Amino acid sequence: MIYLLFFAITLLFSGCITPELQDRKTSRAAGNVTVVLSLDGFRHDYPEKVSTPHLDSIATVGVRAALEPVFPSKTFPNHYSMATGLYPEHHGLVSNSFYDERKKEYFSLSDRSTVNDPDYYGGEPIWQTAQKQGVRTANFFWVGSDVAINGRYPDIWKPYDGRVPFSVRLDSVISWLAKPAQERPGLVMWYYHQPDSWGHKFGPESDAIVDKIAVLDSLVGQFNRKVRALPNRDSINVIILSDHGMGQLSADKRMFLTDYLSEEMVLRYSGSSPFYMIEPKQGMLDSVFAALDTVEHLSVWKKGEVPETLHYGDHDRIMSLVAVADSAWSLEWDHGRSMMQGTHGYVPSNKDMHAIFYAYGPAFRKNIRGKPFSNLHMYPLLVFLLGIESAPVDAFLDKNVLWMLSREGPSK
Ligand code: AMP
Ligand code: ZN
Ligand code: ZN
Repeated sequence: MIYLLFFAITLLFSGCITPELQDRKTSRAAGNVTVVLSLDGFRHDYPEKVSTPHLDSIATVGVRAALEPVFPSKTFPNHYSMATGLYPEHHGLVSNSFYDERKKEYFSLSDRSTVNDPDYYGGEPIWQTAQKQGVRTANFFWVGSDVAINGRYPDIWKPYDGRVPFSVRLDSVISWLAKPAQERPGLVMWYYHQPDSWGHKFGPESDAIVDKIAVLDSLVGQFNRKVRALPNRDSINVIILSDHGMGQLSADKRMFLTDYLSEEMVLRYSGSSPFYMIEPKQGMLDSVFAALDTVEHLSVWKKGEVPETLHYGDHDRIMSLVAVADSAWSLEWDHGRSMMQGTHGYVPSNKDMHAIFYAYGPAFRKNIRGKPFSNLHMYPLLVFLLGIESAPVDAFLDKNVLWMLSREGPSK
């Protein structure tokens, strides 16, 4: 029912595409390639703090905007929302870790047997929508790309291994773009797990992060140079984005859930700072809620009462209570671990959680700074760039995204 409703909404909004846009869409489909790189945890304002000449140059020859994550601002839900156009409550990756009641199993991004289980992945990722409509797809590590979702992989894909050097990933992507036209993928997606881990370790406000951001910027420079050297460079749209930002933590802003809850109250829990889900033992829901509701710098909601703007309502994997700390506060289960210097998972309106979006190529205007938009709109944008039909989704082609698209046809 809910999917029918979203399908109707999608149709309604696609009805808003003018004939001029439709023409642009159709002409764009022919022979163009779209490449999307995700730099995990790249905060929207790192380029203001650190010299990033290569990203800056994209902003000149193309577009730049801040990208808002979906809730919770964690890696798996966000990458998969960008891939499917669905909120986590609809695609099912409701966090990086959660409990599945039907399977009687905890999903965790660090447990390969669960990460590779297609049962966890709902909806239709963009690479499948594309494949079904005759577009070849290649993927180096996007969340879900090494899983047989709906029984199918991208045409080219790799089993996730964070040890594969960044330069190897970059050269593989270039080699795919350089393939002869008949074999060349129309959609390429790839992923670097940085600067996320550096942000956790050193903190986004630290001096140490500066060098790390510079390393990534120079990789972006290498990639741009190699793209520019390709004979088909004028038909390549490049998007560089991130899944969420990073918030600075400090030792005087820590909360521990076990300071308020005892073992007798909790059946199970799941999460990591600053976001937790809690399943109270039978009859304990109100006492657990009451114990947390008065804690300063913490928001706690009963399932079904999470603010609508967070779109975190009706999936089985969402536990009876959802808790998230205020900006700059760390929320940990117990006192057992040392604190990270940075984290993410806060509500999307927290500016520290905002991510980057840079793009250039025939589909994009030049030297444009767009307004912030939700990463849920990535799927409709990719559908548009590929000139294909959308699966039923929660999102439409946002006007702030449309505004960044070029008015001329592809320069070929
Ligand atoms: P987090 O900062 O906890 O939200 O998650 C970031 C981590 O997710 C990265 O450091 C990677 O180790 C992990 N990760 C990202 N993509 C994948 C993937 N496709 N498969 C397995 N792990 C992944
Ligand atoms: Zn991430
Ligand atoms: Zn992270």
